[in-house]
Amino acid sequence: MKKTLFLNLLIIFTLGFVSCVNQVEKNPHDRAINQKVEKILSHMSLQEKVGQMTQITLSVLTKGPDAFTTTWPAELDSNKVKVAFEKYKIGSVLNTDGNNEAHTTTWWNKNISFLQKQAIEKTGIPVLYGIDAIHGTTYTAGATLFPQQIGQGATFNPSLVKKLNEICAYETRASGIPWNFSPVLDMGRDPRDPRMWETYGEDVYENSVMATAAVIGLQGKNSNAIDKYHVAACMKHFIAYNSNSGKDRNPLTMSARDLFERDVPDFQAAVDAGDKSVMISSGILNGIPVHSSKAVLTDLLRNEMGFQGLIVTDWADIENLHNRDKVAITQKEAVRMAIDAGIDMSMVPYNYKFCDYLIQLVKEGKISESRIDASVRRILKLKFELGLFESPVTYAKDYPAFGSKSFEAEALKTARESITLLKNQNNILPLKKNAKVLVCGPNANSMRTLNGGWSYSWQGEKADQFASNYNTILEAIRTKIGKKNIKYVPGVTYKMDGKYYEENKPDIATAVKAAKSVDYVVLCLGENSYTEKPGDLVDLYLSDNQTQLALALAKTHKPVILVLNEGRPRLISKFEPKMKAVIQTYLPGNFGGDALADILFGDVNPSGKLPYTYPKYPNSLNTYDFKPSEKQSKQTNGYNYAGTIQEQYSFGTGLSYTTFNYDHFKINKDTINPNEKTKVSIEVTNTGKREGKEVVMLYSSDEYASITPDNKRLRRFLKIDLKPGESKTVSFEIDAKDLSFINRNNQRVAEAGDFVLSINKFHSKIYLTGDVAFGKPSKVRM
Ligand code: BGC
Repeated sequence: MKKTLFLNLLIIFTLGFVSCVNQVEKNPHDRAINQKVEKILSHMSLQEKVGQMTQITLSVLTKGPDAFTTTWPAELDSNKVKVAFEKYKIGSVLNTDGNNEAHTTTWWNKNISFLQKQAIEKTGIPVLYGIDAIHGTTYTAGATLFPQQIGQGATFNPSLVKKLNEICAYETRASGIPWNFSPVLDMGRDPRDPRMWETYGEDVYENSVMATAAVIGLQGKNSNAIDKYHVAACMKHFIAYNSNSGKDRNPLTMSARDLFERDVPDFQAAVDAGDKSVMISSGILNGIPVHSSKAVLTDLLRNEMGFQGLIVTDWADIENLHNRDKVAITQKEAVRMAIDAGIDMSMVPYNYKFCDYLIQLVKEGKISESRIDASVRRILKLKFELGLFESPVTYAKDYPAFGSKSFEAEALKTARESITLLKNQNNILPLKKNAKVLVCGPNANSMRTLNGGWSYSWQGEKADQFASNYNTILEAIRTKIGKKNIKYVPGVTYKMDGKYYEENKPDIATAVKAAKSVDYVVLCLGENSYTEKPGDLVDLYLSDNQTQLALALAKTHKPVILVLNEGRPRLISKFEPKMKAVIQTYLPGNFGGDALADILFGDVNPSGKLPYTYPKYPNSLNTYDFKPSEKQSKQTNGYNYAGTIQEQYSFGTGLSYTTFNYDHFKINKDTINPNEKTKVSIEVTNTGKREGKEVVMLYSSDEYASITPDNKRLRRFLKIDLKPGESKTVSFEIDAKDLSFINRNNQRVAEAGDFVLSINKFHSKIYLTGDVAFGKPSKVRM
């Protein structure tokens, strides 16, 4: 059977969205909101305006000895709430309480209702509550937790990403919360980064596609009025949230050109999809803390990218301009700098000094009241768009599908499509269900490691308590093949009350002994949960204990199936050749154990593809879109270069239990002018015996350009499903913009010349007849 598939639905959809967003001013609903905003604004005092721009964390409002600590069980302190709304007129609250844990929807509904009642009584304006629901509704017990973004990236399936964000929005609203600090649009281009798993991976185009899907999923289609089943998205962390050292919140040097090439596109895609708010990067870009950069916040984000929504700081980042980054000589000066740069709302989050300083700055004439008004307008507008003035609280009773079986089925489906088979020597997988198996490793029996950070708590350490009714890898394997044939010896264990990288004294001998009486070893290695600075890393290799365990098990000559459960690609080159199969689960969420068992024992055919380059050595950390000089292996005089690119697994790697044959690669026009498109098509056939999903990827390579071109760039992808013997023809349209890059003047251009288009093993040249520019050169200097 042959079918022709046209990819462009997604693009048309996105374009439709862009034009809809451009209609904003003409939209009558929008005009009505603006009128209401102006009416409220005209009656507001300076204290009230500044209060709207202030966001505090929940622990400031709970019973406890100070602003950081909440006594258990968490309760709001009505006196503290009164201070927040009556005295300081604050406009926004975030996060869970100081015990840093998830609560039931009933708890959230009760407490958000109380806050809304107080806010409206004391300020006349509902409060905007924000939370980090980055892979499902993080801080609500019983919510559906999905694979983290890195696993979502591995699905290469934007429709799953849209759907899971819809579910996340629904469940966040069930808790009474209308604002989500998601999606993360940082680039996952550094394997050392403790937040790599919060990203969709290293590719610029894939990140843009996923950004669009996530924003539409969270906010719904009509971004002017966000209905009660959706939330406002908050893309983050704008921009260049990486560092030279690979550590969180360390400095980054990056040319503006690189920034436009790699970091701007996915944020631009989110802006074009109608994203309502943005959180600023806590980093230091070219010596300048981003929170103090007018070039980034105003010139780039507002003026060049056209972002009209709300700009919120990251955690304490105005204070950091003084305390940490030393660009502001006083706290008051830090406030002036950040507001002048373009901040609308300060995530303070522990005190009210921001209000006092900002009022003083206005009174001293250092910040104009019209500047304040501009921010307050955006905040009020979002509150209207979210319907908070009509329904300040949404209640769980109106969200009967919260935590439902159908939502769980989506989480399982996403986990199944994310898990990536990286190696399968002699088709050792799938395993037979009557095989005798030793399950071992520190990640074999933990819900915490399956979920990672931002799961029930910030660092994810409470997942075993909150997710005890879901299956760990061990439990899922037991459920799948029965207990009789399974042995479990961890060999290595994490210190659950220590730092994320700390391990207990290993017991490798017991694991080795157990291996002797089984047919296979399923070895579950990786990392314990972490995020942000606590997840910084000094050694990219997997821990010594885990490496020793793998080597010792391999010595038994029992086939070892390596299961990786990790947020970033920890190096495995010291033992990988001895592993018969390797499966990457990333951080697959509450159904990761079940999805893995389905794949291990052949009930599901794996279809994930690696969304980053898996490095082999610490000093070989390239991405797939490297520059030609990076892969030189010989000089013309014959000298070998030792340090050329050495990847453990390339970007896009992902095996299947069936085989796919690619054929009939066609390009309908091999010469195009700057206004023309060419259609590239390929026929893919499932030549194996079982149904399977395949991601068809189209790359382009520029032969010569005025800026050294990238090795290759992903331009389109599509995941298709094929029955045994079935063929499908996949077609992609490509035009000059798809061949473009940022030139020396920081302008997007395509230059006349030859380009190689490739899909799988096929490639062919096309010729672009003329130069073309897209937009003007950027004027931003950073
Ligand atoms: C993180 C953000 C997060 C914020 C609020 C910060 O430390 O960098 O990603 O949204 O905290 O929880």
